[in-house]
Amino acid sequence: MNSVGVVYNNNHELHDYILKGFPSPENPARLKKILQHFMDNSVLEKNSCRILSPVNASVEDILRVHTSEYFSFVQSRSLSGGGWLGNDTYLCEGSFDVLLQAVGSVLEAGKAVVTGQCDHALALIRPPGHHASADKHSGFCILNNAAILARYLQHLYSCQKIAIVNIDAHASDGTQNIFYADPSVLCISVHQDPSGFYPFKGFIREMGSIPALGYTLNMEMPQEAGNSEYAIFFEEIGLKVLEQFGPDLVILECGFDSYYKEKLAKLNLTIDGYYDSVSRICSRWHTIVLLEGGYHDDLGMLADVVLQALAGNRYTKDEIDQVSLMASRQSSCRRTFQSKLKELKILLSPHWEL
Ligand SMILES: [Zn+2]
Repeated sequence: MNSVGVVYNNNHELHDYILKGFPSPENPARLKKILQHFMDNSVLEKNSCRILSPVNASVEDILRVHTSEYFSFVQSRSLSGGGWLGNDTYLCEGSFDVLLQAVGSVLEAGKAVVTGQCDHALALIRPPGHHASADKHSGFCILNNAAILARYLQHLYSCQKIAIVNIDAHASDGTQNIFYADPSVLCISVHQDPSGFYPFKGFIREMGSIPALGYTLNMEMPQEAGNSEYAIFFEEIGLKVLEQFGPDLVILECGFDSYYKEKLAKLNLTIDGYYDSVSRICSRWHTIVLLEGGYHDDLGMLADVVLQALAGNRYTKDEIDQVSLMASRQSSCRRTFQSKLKELKILLSPHWEL
């Protein structure tokens, strides 16, 4: 069994906002559901997890990625009471402290892996981070957790090459922006086709810029794509590129909104698909999993299965009837997927052997 470190930001409930009488989909109930499931099912005990304590990130850690003007804006806006920022993002009075602890938790997870305290780590944090750019909040995200972790590991632990893989239903546009011209960080994002779907970025043709052309990789998944399409993508492209890049470790931006019950997206990953995607990565590289999106009731079960994949445990087979799920999938989905896969392979061929 692999040793897995687990951390969560225990002040996350202070980040909460009601807009016109309605809570944001990104609210404290998300992480509470996961922690409750873990408690009810003794998940941490069963997987012999190492519990890591959350600490606050330093300003220096954050400024390796974000501009000081933007960071000052976040701090002063939060401490003066917060409010609606636009781009589906809010701050409230407690948000600043929550953000420091969320980032700090992520850094503790990274440190535990890179110093050999554990093989892999899971950081259950909110708010999520993958849509945040160096100077811009977006899509519930304020600070880019994965990017700050990558820079921290490069700066303090001499990691040379880091891969960031996103399996949230939404493209990892903020992370992509930050590393677009940096060949030391490979960014792979597998997400729902962003034509008419947030964040309207993350198209196959967005591939990085010199000197990092080919180091940003976007796979547009057609609506209804699920376990088998993800498996084919990783087998034919994702893992091959990762192997050739040879990262010191992988940061996995793990959103649970690619799940078939998610109402904010139209993908069809099941428990099996999450287990399989995480296993393919963590069986080859030390992996730090960060919670991104996911807004349905099965978040606890999915976080549980991700933890089992990291621990290297076998798990009880998915109860979902895969056959009926496959049957409900339109055949046009597979045709579109195959043509997108082919297009991506052709575009990547000058950069990677596929
Ligand atoms: Zn998402």
